[in-house]
Amino acid sequence: MPWFRHHYSCQACDGSWFAEAAVVVESDCPFCAARDVFAYKSDDRTLIVEREGAAFVVFEAAKSARAEPGYRQRKRFATRAKANAFVAARRRKPTSRPAPRARSARSA
Ligand SMILES: [Zn+2]
Repeated sequence: MPWFRHHYSCQACDGSWFAEAAVVVESDCPFCAARDVFAYKSDDRTLIVEREGAAFVVFEAAKSARAEPGYRQRKRFATRAKANAFVAARRRKPTSRPAPRARSARSA
């Protein structure tokens, strides 16, 4: 299940806040109670990197995430750069179709 941090900005009172959820949801302004404010930005937080002592740990939101992300440890890395590279590679991975293969490899 993907997990997002949604950023909101209220046009009525200029208040801004964020909320985390598995889906895009409208939010009521906590400052002036304006209803159904839409998120202007959403961060993908399905995979996150947290520092744990000397290591950097990649956590992934649970497949059944609904009200809570239920993060589980995926992999540990020695550096933040390696952890970020792992996350970037996972995000690039296509979900609906296989990656195209280079044609030249077949004829070689
Ligand atoms: Zn407001």
